[in-house]
Amino acid sequence: MTLRRKTLLTIGLTLGLLIAIAYGMASLIFLARFTELETVQLRACVQRMQRVINDQLEHIESTARDYATQGDSFNFAAGLQPAYTQKYQDSSLFRNYDIDAMVVMPVHGDALFAKSVDMKTLHDTPLAERIAGLMANDSGLRYNAEATEGKNGILRVGTGFFLFAAHPILPASRKGPSNGTLLMTRELDADMLSQLSELTQLGLAINGVVGDLPADFAIAWKELHNGGSGPVLRILDNDTYAAYVPMLDQARKPVALLRATSNREIFTHARSSIYYLLIALLLLGVAFIVITLLSLERLVLARLARLTNEVNHIGMGGDLNARVTVTGRDELSVLAQKVNSLLNNLSSQIDLEHAVASAQTAASAKSTFLANMSHELRTPLNAIIGYSELLQESVGDEGLSRLVPDLQKIVEAGKHLQSIISNVLDISKIEAGKMELEHLPFDLYETINAVSDIMLVRSREKALPLLVSVDDGVPRHIVGDAPRLRQVLVNLLNNAVKFTDQGEVELTVGAKSLDPHDSATAPTWELTFNVRDTGIGIPAQRFERLFKAFSQVDASSSRKYGGTGLGLAISQQLCEMMGGRMWVESVEGTGSTFHLTLQTREAVKAAVGY
Ligand code: ADP
Repeated sequence: MTLRRKTLLTIGLTLGLLIAIAYGMASLIFLARFTELETVQLRACVQRMQRVINDQLEHIESTARDYATQGDSFNFAAGLQPAYTQKYQDSSLFRNYDIDAMVVMPVHGDALFAKSVDMKTLHDTPLAERIAGLMANDSGLRYNAEATEGKNGILRVGTGFFLFAAHPILPASRKGPSNGTLLMTRELDADMLSQLSELTQLGLAINGVVGDLPADFAIAWKELHNGGSGPVLRILDNDTYAAYVPMLDQARKPVALLRATSNREIFTHARSSIYYLLIALLLLGVAFIVITLLSLERLVLARLARLTNEVNHIGMGGDLNARVTVTGRDELSVLAQKVNSLLNNLSSQIDLEHAVASAQTAASAKSTFLANMSHELRTPLNAIIGYSELLQESVGDEGLSRLVPDLQKIVEAGKHLQSIISNVLDISKIEAGKMELEHLPFDLYETINAVSDIMLVRSREKALPLLVSVDDGVPRHIVGDAPRLRQVLVNLLNNAVKFTDQGEVELTVGAKSLDPHDSATAPTWELTFNVRDTGIGIPAQRFERLFKAFSQVDASSSRKYGGTGLGLAISQQLCEMMGGRMWVESVEGTGSTFHLTLQTREAVKAAVGY
C-alpha cells in the first residue's frame, strides 16, 4: 500500500471515529439534556392543564353549591316549587353557567328535576335522565341526610366524559339534614378539549380505562396500575412526547386517561443542531484530508519519489560518483545525506576491493615467482653442492687435500642456502594458501627415531645430551603428513640445540584419546610434543612476535646464530593445519619449552601393511 493511501486511510478512519464519538457524546449529553428539559416543560404544561380542569370543576361545584344551599329552593315536602322549576327549565341558565345537565335527587325516591341541554342548540337532551338513572344506582353520587360537603370529578356516561360537581341540598345555614343531591355536569367534549388545548398548547385526547384501549393508553394505564400516581410520561416518537393524566371519578378512582401531547421541538432542534455540527465536522475533516494530502505530496512524497528515482538511476547506471540531491533541512534531507555518504563508502569500498584484488594478484604472482625462482635456484645449487662433494672426494685422491676444507665450506654454504630457499618456498606457499598436507598412514615411532637420529649428530657436536621419551599410550600408526611433522620437530629441536650451550635438550611425546563416538574420518587422538632446552631462553615480551615470519628475538641473534626467522612461523602454520596449535613457555637465561599439539586418528593395520 502506498504512503498516500495509508495516510488517506488513517486520516479517514480517524475522522470517522471522531465523528462517531462526537455523535455519541452529543447524543448522550445534549439529547439527554434536551429530553430532560422537554420533560420539565411537559410537566409544567400538564400542571397548567390540570389547574384549568380543576378551575372548571370548581366553577361547576360553586354553582352547584350556590343552588343547593339556597334553602328554600327545594321544599321537598311539597315538591319542587313551581317558580324554581320554571327558572331551572330556562335553557339559557345552562349556557350562562356553562353546564349541560342538572339533576335534583331527593335522599330517597326518584329525581325531582332532571334537565340537560345541547350547549350549541340549547335543545333538551336525554343526558339528564341517564345521569339520574346512574345516581339512583350509585350511592357515591347520591347524598344521604347527613351529608354536608360537596364533591366533584369525572363521570362517564355512555361514551362521553363529564366534569361533574354534586352537593347536598341544605338550608341556607348550610347545616343538615340534607334534603338530597344537586348534581351539575359539563361534558369534556371536543370544544372543551380544543379550548384546553389552546390554553396549554398541548394536543389532548381522552379515553376510558375499561374495554379495549389504544396501545399507548394501555401501556400508560398499566404503568399507573403498577403504582404510579401519574402523570405517566412517554416518548411516542421522534416528534411527539406524551403525558397521561388519570381522571378521577366520584370515588377518587381513575375513570379515564387524558393524554396531553407536545411537539418535541426542543429535541428536534437539538437533533438538527447535532446534524449541522456533524456536517461541519465532516467538511472540516475533508478539508483537513485535502490539506494533509497536498502537504504530504509536496513535503514528502514528491521528494521521496525524486530520491527513489535518483537512487534507482545510480543503481542502474552503476555510476558511483553520482550523488542524490539534498534539499531542505529535515529528515528527508538527512536521509539523502546518508545515501550520499553510503555512496561515498561504497565507492571507497570498491576502490579497496580493487586494491585488495590487485594485491592478491600481486601476492599470487609473487608466490608463483618465488616458487619458480626457488626451483630455478635449487637446480644449480644442487649441482654446486653435488660437484663440491665429488670434488672433495677426488681432490684427496689427487693429492690436493689442502683444498678439502674450502670445498667443505662451499658444501655447507650451499646446504644452508638450500634450507633458506626451502623455507622461503614453504612460507610463500602457506601465505598463498597453496600448501597442502598429506593424509597418509605412517609410523610415528619411525618418524621420531629419524628426527632424533638427525638431531643427535648436531647435539653431539655441542656435547649436549638429547633425551627422547614417548608415553606408553601414544599410538604408533597414525594418519597424517610425516615429512611435515618431521620438519616441524627438526626445526624446534634445531633451535633448542642452536640456542643451548649447556644442560640438555629433551623431546617428550604424549597422546590424549578424543571422544571416540565421532565418524570414521574424525580425529580420535590429540598428540602433544614438547621440546625443552636449557638454553638462553626468550624474553616474555617477544613471545607474540616469535611466530611471525622473518622475526628473531633480536638482531644480534641472527648475527650470532644465523637463521632467517621463518622456522617458527612455518612450524606454527603447519601445526594449525594439522588441527593443533603451538605455543612457548620460556624464562630468559634458563631455557624454553615449545609445545605443539596436533589431531590425528589411528591408521588401520591393513593400510600400514602389516
Ligand atoms: P631462525 O631460523 O632464525 O631460527 P625461527 O623462526 O626458528 O627462525 O626462530 C626465530 C627466533 O626465535 C630465533 O632467531 C631466536 O631468536 C628465537 N628462538 C627460537 N627458538 C628458540 C629457543 N629454543 N631458545 C631461544 N630462542 C629461540
